[in-house]
Order: sequence, then structure tokens, then C-alpha cells
Amino acid sequence: MSGLRIPLGGGPDGSGTPRAVNVLAPNASPMTLDGTNTWVLAEPGAESALVVDPGPDDEAHLRRVIGHLGGRRVAAVLLTHGHADHSAGARRFAELARAPVRALDRAHRLGDEGLADGDVLAVEGLEVRVVGTPGHSFDSLCFWLPQDRAMLTGDTVLGRGTTMIAGDGDLADYLTTLDKLRATAEEVGAQALLPGHGPVLDDPIAALDGYVAHRRRRLDAVRRALAAGAGTPGEIVEIVYADVDRSLWPAAEASVRAQLRYLERL
Ligand SMILES: [Zn+2]
Repeated sequence: MSGLRIPLGGGPDGSGTPRAVNVLAPNASPMTLDGTNTWVLAEPGAESALVVDPGPDDEAHLRRVIGHLGGRRVAAVLLTHGHADHSAGARRFAELARAPVRALDRAHRLGDEGLADGDVLAVEGLEVRVVGTPGHSFDSLCFWLPQDRAMLTGDTVLGRGTTMIAGDGDLADYLTTLDKLRATAEEVGAQALLPGHGPVLDDPIAALDGYVAHRRRRLDAVRRALAAGAGTPGEIVEIVYADVDRSLWPAAEASVRAQLRYLERL
């Protein structure tokens, strides 16, 4: 892996790349896997850092993130998207760190600056490129770290299993996003995906190909369920998501609604 040290063993706490280190939040659940990954980004030796997704509003976790800064100042808090498991602690964390919060969605910003596709952030030698990746949610962003050849993916790509299309997401956008991420990963030689939940993925192209194939399979299964007479999203979930833990069925239903909207527009 051309000299990059990407520790993949063990739990995701402390995992990452030279410039991105994970602090795992204690909010494990079927939806959030081991918990939300809060990423501390910094150039080695620098006195400033960026913090991505403070996670839930959990004082002990937020203070642990402050501890992981090792005295570094937080230049800004960045959100991959506005879902509560990533953003609920942002306001409190921003207070503790005296830092602004930057997000695509105005509702989640603290301070004057937003975040949008194409933005380039530079913090003491650390470079972060913002990639607009709508789909999982309308406001999803990924963050590309060219120096580590790593992409922070939020909930657009997870470290295990696959992601759901949320009620505020869009499947057509999501499929476009997966194609864009795959093309980008190939073009820039991405070596790691740093997800919002679950472990680091060290084969970005294989992971993205797997995601596209999975979405196609699910769409085919929804089409078959419709052809077999399933009438409501709930009935489709019972057939298509029979293999998925029942606690995930409400999320699966949002995903089925997104798939139905997509199929209607074809
Ligand atoms: Zn999440």
C-alpha cells in the first residue's frame, strides 16, 4: 500500500490513516453498527485539527474527543450529513472546542461558513477536498484526504453491510453518487474508505462495486415482489428484507419507499 500505514486490525477506535484517527462513540445499535466514528483530522505535528461528525450528544464521548486532540486547536467541526447520530453532539462539541460547525445544510451550521462540493480546506498542511454525495440523505458529503489517499464516507459507504436510503435521501442520486465515488477512487488511486460506522475499508473499488451490485439486486428484488403482488411498502419489506434483522425494518421501509419512487420515475 505504498508506505501508508492503515491499521485494520481490532476495533475501529484509534483506526485510520496518518492524518485521520477514529474516536468511536458509544452508540452501538443495528443502525449504527459499533457506533458512530468521530474522525480527528490533522497534519502530523500540527497545532490545529478538524473534527468530523462529533456524533451523539454524549458528554463523555465529546470530552474523549477533546482528549484525543492532544492540545490541538479545532479549526472547524465538519458534518458528513445532518442525521442525529453524527450531528446531535455538534453544538456541545463546538462549545467545548470553541469552533464553528460547517455542514451542507444551513440548519446544522454554527458560524458563517457552509460546506459544498468542490470546497478545499487547508489546515496547517492538511488538505481536505469536499465531495458532494447526495443519496443516503439529501445533504451527504464525503471528504477526500489526498495526502493519505483516503475518503471519509459518512453513511454513504459503511464499513460493514450496506447503507439504507433514508427518508430524506434519493436512490437516483445515490446511484449517481456511487458511480462518481468509484470513478474518483479509480482516478485518484484511493487506498482507504473511512466510514461513518464500522471498520476502515482498504479496497475502495471493490467496496463500491459491491455497493452498486447490492443496490441493483435489491431493486430487482423489489420489482419481483411487486410482480408477485406485494402492494404496500410493508409487504415488500417482509419479502425483500426477510434476511434483515426486524429492528431494521422501519429503516428498510424508508429504503423501499425510496426504491419505489425511483422505479416510478424510470
Ligand atoms: Zn449514521
